[in-house]
Amino acid sequence: MNAPVISESEAQKDVEAFPLLNDEEMQEAIKCGRIERYTAGETLFEAGEMPIDCFVSISGDLDIVDTSGEEERLIVTHEPRSLVGDLNILAGRPAIAACRARENAEVIRLTASEVRSLLVRAASLSEKWINAFIRRRELLEESGFEGLRVYGDHNDPATLRVREFMHRNGVPHRWIDTSDAATLSELDKKPEAFPAIAWRHRILLENPSLRDLAIQIGVKRKIPEQLFDTVIIGSGPAGLGAAVYAASEGLSTVVLDRIGPGGQAGSSSRIENYAGFPAGLSGRELALKSYVQALKFGAIFSSPVSVISLGCLQDGVHEIGLDDGSVVRSKTVIISTGVTYRSMGVAGLQELRGAGIFYAATRVEAVLCKGHPVHIIGAGNSAGQAAMFLSNFSDQVNLIVRGSDLTKSMSSYLSERVVVNPRIKIRLQSELRAVEGHDCLTGVRIENTASGEMTQEESAGIFVFIGASPCTDFLGTGICKDNKGFLLTGTDVSSNASWPLTTRSPLPLETSCPGIFAAGDCRARTTKRVAAAIGDGALAVTCVHDYLGTYE
Ligand SMILES: Cc1cc2nc3c(=O)[nH]c(=O)nc-3n(C[C@H](O)[C@H](O)[C@H](O)COP(=O)(O)OP(=O)(O)OC[C@H]3O[C@@H](n4cnc5c(N)ncnc54)[C@H](O)[C@@H]3O)c2cc1C
Repeated sequence: MNAPVISESEAQKDVEAFPLLNDEEMQEAIKCGRIERYTAGETLFEAGEMPIDCFVSISGDLDIVDTSGEEERLIVTHEPRSLVGDLNILAGRPAIAACRARENAEVIRLTASEVRSLLVRAASLSEKWINAFIRRRELLEESGFEGLRVYGDHNDPATLRVREFMHRNGVPHRWIDTSDAATLSELDKKPEAFPAIAWRHRILLENPSLRDLAIQIGVKRKIPEQLFDTVIIGSGPAGLGAAVYAASEGLSTVVLDRIGPGGQAGSSSRIENYAGFPAGLSGRELALKSYVQALKFGAIFSSPVSVISLGCLQDGVHEIGLDDGSVVRSKTVIISTGVTYRSMGVAGLQELRGAGIFYAATRVEAVLCKGHPVHIIGAGNSAGQAAMFLSNFSDQVNLIVRGSDLTKSMSSYLSERVVVNPRIKIRLQSELRAVEGHDCLTGVRIENTASGEMTQEESAGIFVFIGASPCTDFLGTGICKDNKGFLLTGTDVSSNASWPLTTRSPLPLETSCPGIFAAGDCRARTTKRVAAAIGDGALAVTCVHDYLGTYE
C-alpha cells in the first residue's frame, strides 16, 4: 500500500487530531468498554458499516484505510493509546473509512452510548476526543479523501441541491462535473439519471430525492418511538443552541431539519459578532461544533425532514407530523424554523449568496465592499438603514427602488436622511435584472422600468432587503402570529387574549399553545442575529424546564 497520507511524524506532531491517552484515561476507557484481540491484517470495521464502534489500541498499530478511490489508500496508522474514531460514531452514521490491524493488536471497544457516557464523565477525555473528531474532519478534507461521488452538471439545480445537502450534513464527497462529454459518455447514462451518486464506480442512486439519498447513505436516522421531553424543529443557531442546553440538562431531545444543521448561519462565511471569537468563525464551523456538542450529550438529529403539522392531544402530548408520513410525540416543542429571504427570481443570485450577495448589512459585509459601488434592493426601513450605514464605506451606494416614491415605504425621518446623503443615489422605478460573476459578484444589470433603459454596472455587493418570511406556514392558524407570520410569545400572547389558560400566564418564549415554544428568527420582535438566536434557544430550554417542572 501507499505511504500514509498523514505520516507517523505528522500524526505525532498533531496532538489535537491524534491525542494519546494517559494511564488514568486508559483505565477509564477499559472500565466503560470491553477488550478484544485482532490478528495482523484482520478488519475491525469496513467503510459503510453501521453502527460503528470506537476503539482504543492497548497494543499493536491500527491502519485507517480509504477504500473509496480507485485504489486503497492508507490514511494514517494509529499507535497504541490512540483513539480510532470519527464523529460519525456520535452521529450514528456509517464508517467513512476501514480500519485494519497492522499487527496483532489488543484493543478496547466502545459503543456510541459507552463513548457518550465516558465523555460526559471524564472531562479531559471529552476535550481530547471531541477536538480530535473535529480536527480529523478538517484533515480528511485536506487529504483529498474521495468519499461518495456525485456526478452531475454544474448548471443542474438538482446536483447543487445534493451537494448542498451533503455539505450541510458533513458527508465527505467529490463532485464530478458531467458537462464534459467524455465523462458523460464514460458513464453511459441517460440525462435523467443525474445527479448520480456512486461509491467508487458503482452507481448507488440515480437522481434520488434527498430523503432516499439520506436513507441510503445513513444520514437519516430512524427516530425511536417514544415520548420525548422536547422536539426542536429547525437546526439553525436557535435550534442548535436549544439542542445543546436541552440534551446537556438531561432532557430527551430530538432535532428535526428539512436540510441539515446550520440554518442561515451555515451560509455565512465569517461571523465576526459572536462573543468569544474575536477573529470570527465561519458559520459552518459554528454549526459543526454546536452539532457535535449536542450529539455528545445525546441529542438525536434527523434530516432531511420537514415538519408539516403540529397538534396537541388532550393529555398535553404534542404530535409532530413529518413529510415522510411519520409522527413524533413529545411533551414540549421548540419551534426554531427561522426565516427564508424572498427570492427575486434573478438568475445567479442564489449561487453567489455570501460571495457578493448579502442579506444583512453589518460591518462584516460592509468592509468587504469598502471603496466599491454597492447596490441595495428594497425601499423599507431596513434598506434605508443599510444605505446610510454602507455610505460610511462606499461613496457609490445605489438604492434600487421598484416604486416611484420612497416615502411610501420608508419612515420620513429616514428617507429624508437618505435623500440628502450625497453618497447615496436613489434609483426609483428600477429593478435588478441580472448579476454577473462566477465565483464572486462583479457586476449587475439594472433596468429603469419607466424608460426601459438597461445599464451594466460594476458592483461589489448586492444587499437584498425585500423582506424575510418566517417559516411558520406549516403551523396553520392554530398558533398566534403577527401580521407577517412571526410567532407571538410571552406577554405578546397574554396581551392579545389568545392565551387559553386561566391558571397561569405564558412563559417568556411560550406561544399561544401551552408547551410549544418559539426561538430565534421565527419569533416576533427578535434581533435577527446569530447570538440572539442561540440565546433564545437556551432561554426556550429554561421555559421547557419550567413547564415540565424539571428544575431542581
Ligand atoms: C448570508 C448570511 C449571513 C449572516 N451573517 C450573520 C453574521 O455575521 N452575524 C449575525 O449575527 N447574523 C448573521 N446572519 C443572520 C443569522 O444567520 C440568523 O439570524 C440566524 O441564523 C437565525 O437563526 P435561527 O436558528 O433562528 O434560524 P435559521 O438560521 O433560519 O434556521 C432555521 C432552520 O429551520 C429549518 N426549517 C425551517 N422550516 C422547517 C420545517 N418546517 N421543518 C424542519 N426544518 C425547518 C431550516 O432548514 C433551517 O435550518 C446572517 C444571515 C445570512 C443569510
